Amino acid sequence: MSTSQQQIPLQLVGRINQLAAQAPLPSPLSAEDKQQLKERIKLLLKQRNAQIVAHYYVDAELQALAEETGGIVADSLEMANFGAQSNADMLVVCGVRFMGETAKMLSPEKVVLMPDLNATCSLDVGCPADEFAAFCAHHPDHTVVVYANTSVEVKAIADWVVTSGNALQIVRHLKAQGEKIIWAPDQHLGHWIEKETGIEMLRWMGHCIVHDEFKAFELEQLKREHPDAKVLVHPESAESVVALADVVGSTKVLINAVQTLPDQKFIVATDHGIFYKMRQLAPHKKLIVAPTDSKTTQCISCAHCPWMAMNGLQNLADVLEKCDQRIEIDEAIRVKALRSVERMLDFSRAQGLVKVK
Ligand code: SF4
Repeated sequence: MSTSQQQIPLQLVGRINQLAAQAPLPSPLSAEDKQQLKERIKLLLKQRNAQIVAHYYVDAELQALAEETGGIVADSLEMANFGAQSNADMLVVCGVRFMGETAKMLSPEKVVLMPDLNATCSLDVGCPADEFAAFCAHHPDHTVVVYANTSVEVKAIADWVVTSGNALQIVRHLKAQGEKIIWAPDQHLGHWIEKETGIEMLRWMGHCIVHDEFKAFELEQLKREHPDAKVLVHPESAESVVALADVVGSTKVLINAVQTLPDQKFIVATDHGIFYKMRQLAPHKKLIVAPTDSKTTQCISCAHCPWMAMNGLQNLADVLEKCDQRIEIDEAIRVKALRSVERMLDFSRAQGLVKVK
């Protein structure tokens, strides 16, 4: 193992797998129930002056409802930007907890709700703030760059927050200034950034349980079966999978590739919730989920995040009705974490990476 890597303890890996296995799925609904819930949600959104801020990985019906009601479907960078610029009194974040925390951090005056506050992320769980603080304390001469998929406490330790939509640009910017960097928590994204930018970083070795499951050997076989398909890979996947890609990038980059490339067929290595937006923008193109099973191992997440899947129509309607499941953040922590998030947003707006109202 290289000295530039910080492994996470095995107990933590066990806890992540246990949480993923126990993530409750919303109960199946009849078409009639769905229609009634959607009507109720639309009414409550109006009554509360609320907007839905949804991620590309949640259920297609939630994404459609967010768009229909004046909310947004986006990656975590655009979600944060939209929430901060929204005139709503209330934001309902359909995604995972760190996204709700980021929305609250940027809009403390707004009520921020989530259909289920227990929807977490393996990267967040795999980077506990106290252990990460101790790691950073050993390297005081380093600039601390953390991925958005972290708790507010970890963001409060960081100098910069990044998303997969701006990580390359921000690390290049820091490299140009001669900074030494601690990177956390996704090991694969960190490694891809190292290769792209030529910088070596001290890396925290967390992982996304969804992207970690894509299999290179099986992907090569699938490529042979579909020689006319382009392979799209999110950089949270292992290096061996990234090496097989025609396009590597954030959710936004992958969606853009499906929409703009002339090819008609794509093998996609990211959460298949993204197919809703890809099909909306390129309805005639064929999309194939990259393989997550092998002869020796079976998938656990199977290309769909168990925590994103916790968001459903029923718990969305319930949270709008009761206004419980609120994100609350200690003010001192919020103010500290805000510096690194605002630095990211200011940089992204200046570079034209997000929309400015
Ligand atoms: S897909 Fe991976 S990175 Fe995204 S929320 Fe789920 S576990 Fe976290």
